[in-house]
Amino acid sequence: MNISRKETITVPVGHLLLGSRFPILIQSMTNTSTSDISATVVQVKNILTAGADMVRIAVPTMKDVDAFKKIRANLRAEGIIAPLIADVHFLPEIAEAVAPWAEKVRINPGNFVDKRQLKKKDFTDSAYREALEKMAQRARPLLEICKQNGTAIRVGVNQGSLSDRIIHRYGNTPEAMAQSAMEWIDICEQADFSQLVFSMKSSRVNTMIEATLLLDNLMEKRGVRYPLHLGVTEAANGMEARVKSTIGICTLLMHGLGDTVRISLTENPENEIHFAKKMLSVYDNYDERCYILQDGTLTVVSQETDMERWWAVVAISAAKHHISKKINHLISNNFHFSLAENEDLAATVMQACRIKIFKTEIIACPSCGRTQYDIQAVLAKVKEKFSDYPGLKIGVMGCVVNGPGEMADADFGIVGSANNKIAIYRKGERVSDFLPIEKALTLMEEVILKFKRE
Ligand code: SF4
Repeated sequence: MNISRKETITVPVGHLLLGSRFPILIQSMTNTSTSDISATVVQVKNILTAGADMVRIAVPTMKDVDAFKKIRANLRAEGIIAPLIADVHFLPEIAEAVAPWAEKVRINPGNFVDKRQLKKKDFTDSAYREALEKMAQRARPLLEICKQNGTAIRVGVNQGSLSDRIIHRYGNTPEAMAQSAMEWIDICEQADFSQLVFSMKSSRVNTMIEATLLLDNLMEKRGVRYPLHLGVTEAANGMEARVKSTIGICTLLMHGLGDTVRISLTENPENEIHFAKKMLSVYDNYDERCYILQDGTLTVVSQETDMERWWAVVAISAAKHHISKKINHLISNNFHFSLAENEDLAATVMQACRIKIFKTEIIACPSCGRTQYDIQAVLAKVKEKFSDYPGLKIGVMGCVVNGPGEMADADFGIVGSANNKIAIYRKGERVSDFLPIEKALTLMEEVILKFKRE
């Protein structure tokens, strides 16, 4: 698609340059335990071989800072210079310790200093200002270290982990997400730090799109546009995840936004790269003649024989129109695939756009170095057992650190609680903890059936 990108500043990330004047970069994240250095080195290499430009690694503890350094040293010893991104939540001291060794550090403004405890709901203006100033002060050492080492920072806002303070003022909304990012622009610019990238992620496609458009608008008014990292978080796996990601990312690309992308999949990370490349190729070569929009019915005719490319064609066609709410029915027509497959794809696209709900909405994190159970196997079982409850939302999350917050609005959820143990949640409340997987799934079935009877 021949749409020019809105001009951003250029941000160096290691040897790469990120911004509107350079190609869109593709990235993924490891899901091995970071402390397992050899497994993580192998996975980073696999992700790069698949075609990634850079790779993110979770750094949950101080011990993992040492592991990160060793992973990097091993890769550099083999001549691999791809930028490594350290993913840090909750502990600014870890971000400071790892920053000299990473080309980019990802922090989450919702848990950098502020927290989401869903308790204190009465922020006065002065309490709000005080909390903001506390965050600014706590950020300064990190910004100084990043400046000295040429390390970029991604301010990664997630709807599922906005702080109580922000939610109190703006609600759990796209505006809250954009304002959370703008606070970090203030903090960083006051410290004369501009090596910044921003992302606005949500498991809801429309929220992620709206938040990113709002942030872009605010940056434009401010007179500076930082590069954007695009992705739909907790998209789960298979067709659903690829369709959600394509609609979210490509809608924003059509607005001239997006400088790096990640397809978040609860699968092997290399799959994220394979699909990102296909999606961007379909986007670049998109043929407008593939669809007809008449009286709210979008008919997409495709002769793609590659299933993933076909999904991308239909999702991009829907992305062109769903923001302006012009579609109320979708027909996919590709004779290389069965009628049932065509109908399933159309239903999945409509559900991702929130136009019609046909099945259970399942969100699942892609997992990372914090995950201690086989989330891919559990997600497969959850989909097999619980897919036919339209209107129900189920979360499958890798860890207790971020999982419960990220799936707070799910009706039911599964969260990794210890090695090969999972906890069950209902409406944000823990129902049971430390269960072996089979037992947890049986309990979940009982809880869902009871819920449906109530
Ligand atoms: Fe990692 Fe998933 Fe936990 Fe997020 S919720 S930190 S992706 S394991």
